[in-house]
Amino acid sequence: MCEHMFVYNGSMSTPPSCPRASYRAVAHLDLDAFFASVEENLDPSLRGQPVVVGGGERGVVATANYIARRYGVHSAMPLRTARRLCPHGVYLSGNHHLYHRYSKQLMAILRGYSPLVEQVSLDEAYVDLTGTERLFGPVRRTARAIQEEVQEQLHLSISVGLATNKLVAKVASDFRKPHGFTVVPAGSEAAFLAPLPVQRLPGVGPALLGQLQDRGVRTVGDLARVPERLLRMSFGEWGEMLATAARGQDHRRVSPRETVKSISRETTFPEDVGDAAVLEATLISLCEDVCRRLRRRRLEARTVTVKIRYSDFVTHTCSHTLLPARDVDEVFFREVLALFRQGRQRRYRIRLLGVGLSNLVPRSWQDDLFDQEVPLLRELNMKLDLIREKYGKTAVRRGAAQS
Ligand SMILES: [Mg+2]
Repeated sequence: MCEHMFVYNGSMSTPPSCPRASYRAVAHLDLDAFFASVEENLDPSLRGQPVVVGGGERGVVATANYIARRYGVHSAMPLRTARRLCPHGVYLSGNHHLYHRYSKQLMAILRGYSPLVEQVSLDEAYVDLTGTERLFGPVRRTARAIQEEVQEQLHLSISVGLATNKLVAKVASDFRKPHGFTVVPAGSEAAFLAPLPVQRLPGVGPALLGQLQDRGVRTVGDLARVPERLLRMSFGEWGEMLATAARGQDHRRVSPRETVKSISRETTFPEDVGDAAVLEATLISLCEDVCRRLRRRRLEARTVTVKIRYSDFVTHTCSHTLLPARDVDEVFFREVLALFRQGRQRRYRIRLLGVGLSNLVPRSWQDDLFDQEVPLLRELNMKLDLIREKYGKTAVRRGAAQS
């Protein structure tokens, strides 16, 4: 396995053992070709072959291993295209249970080095190593030890970026994939980023990239030279964020999310209700609410529960567990309505309705590449979330929802 070590040496005034103690030491770790690598562990005969993990005939590529990538196969590409580019590849439909199990093991390893582990997706996390020197020695050695432990315990290759903040650590982990190990010492953040294409900055998607290129911005260095005032004029708040990012600054903390077991909401009607249309509209509205909270916490849910309390206080709950976990409203609307229609077995009026989501797992956007409908729905959902956050919950409602 090839390894790369990059230490920026340009005008560095700080010793290579940086990030220094007075700075934060943030590592970003990202497994290489995660799903495909797990499949190779499972069946070592796959090693050396192009391996593509993705959903059925109409699906898209979730992960391609590095050999398949040489043929131009990449994530989110329709499988049909992948098969044309790489007809002799091994195509697998994937095993979510197994990937989740590996993910849990990865996070357990990381938590052995710091209590400050922020899981971003199934195969990606930030670890704040600030102040771990007394326990483990220089942070650079610790980051290397984590990489080795993941390799030994899970037989998975992971890329590591070590820097003074999350933004630079993330760009660094991606700098020399696979099995990369990139250290960006304190003080050299902007110099490290400067030659990189501007789309390497997290958040610079195709639309923004087009606008930046129209203004002659190609590298992060180009961006850093644009006066912040101009960026703010062109891109509003985004402009300010871009300017900060171009300087290699990022003040976000590594924040482990508290483990939420479930998210639920219920409502008691002012007067008991018998009208199915009103009841179902209420359920949709409750469902929207819990889904929004789910997405805000970057979680996905597997189990959905509907609670029905009748006018005589008899209470029924019914649940359904889906696979894989989801975070978009539309999926849960269908479930909630089906559960309600099945579960409402008495003719009494209803006093209270509740919707709950449980069996929560960290969001894994990659998983959704198995399904083409879900990313579009998510994009819509997230836009609605933004509007509601800005203008209030009732600013946008679906036709059937009752406020
Ligand atoms: Mg990865």
